Amino acid sequence: MSVATQAIDGKAFAERLRQRIADHVPSVEHRLGRKPGLAVVLVGDHPASDVYVRNKAKQTVEVGMASFKHALPADTSEADLLSLIETLNHDNAVDGILVQLPLPKHINEAAVLAAINPTKDVDGFHVINAGKLATGQSGFVPCTPLGCLMLLKDVIDDLSGLEAVVIGRSNIVGKPMAQLLLAENCTVTMAHSRTKNLSAVVKRADIVVAAVGRAEMVEGAWIKPGATVIDVGINRVDAPEQGVHKTRLVGDVDFASCQGIAGAITPVPGGVGPMTIACLLANTLTAACRHAGLPDPIV
Ligand code: NDP
Repeated sequence: MSVATQAIDGKAFAERLRQRIADHVPSVEHRLGRKPGLAVVLVGDHPASDVYVRNKAKQTVEVGMASFKHALPADTSEADLLSLIETLNHDNAVDGILVQLPLPKHINEAAVLAAINPTKDVDGFHVINAGKLATGQSGFVPCTPLGCLMLLKDVIDDLSGLEAVVIGRSNIVGKPMAQLLLAENCTVTMAHSRTKNLSAVVKRADIVVAAVGRAEMVEGAWIKPGATVIDVGINRVDAPEQGVHKTRLVGDVDFASCQGIAGAITPVPGGVGPMTIACLLANTLTAACRHAGLPDPIV
């Protein structure tokens, strides 16, 4: 059986989301007497992180929020980083704090994330926010799985009762994704590197979320006809067809072999990727609303 496969346009969805955020910002700014603010902390020179941080700052300003960048040298001590976070925790102009990962090896990542005030933890990585998500309380949800859920809900009217398989169990993607799907009343299976017969597990899913970090690992033959496939993976592979030393980005799913089988699928690039920063801005707006005593925004 061949189905018409819809490519889910995350780029366009993220653009619309940013517009809705931008439309909402002035009322929050009016209430706060200042712009909602996001502080981004970058330690060391990590070329990919540098690009992410620049994009985050650019998009923050574009939706009308204030962006505060703190670039620290690679040899910054953990104590100095913790001290900066403490300052930002008490800075009234800052609604959200994001520490760009990975951090240099001499810094304890868990200690740094734990130091962020949970009400400013717009990445949703603090254990308080992870616990709130797991127990159905309102906190902050990590941006990438939040973006995945928004795309899924745009494609599927009612997720209730659907079989969902999440491949990958990281704290930043796989686990929060599974929690979100559970909260939507999906029947959730979490797969990982020790899962036996992964293709058979994936085959029963109405929803597949792949967050593995292995280029094009999930094949079309594993997918149940009509299933919705969300590809979180970002993998750089050689692209000799484009010239010597050329590379290109691919997901964890073999996009081409899913055509005619999946009902809908996110491409890489242009699927989940653009949603992550848009959801960071949405979380920052939510933090600002909470600081202003306003209800959470519906964006
Ligand atoms: P991690 O490396 O933290 O986790 C990968 C997970 O995949 C682990 O749980 C691991 O299992 C599992 N895994 C590894 N190999 C296999 C296998 N052969 N079969 C089944 N499961 C396997 O990765 P992240 O969650 O941080 O990221 C996943 C991908 O998503 C990466 O490509 C990353 O670049 C991308 N990403 C994209 C974002 C975006 O904005 N679009 C944001 C964040 C990540 P185990 O636990 O057993 O080791």
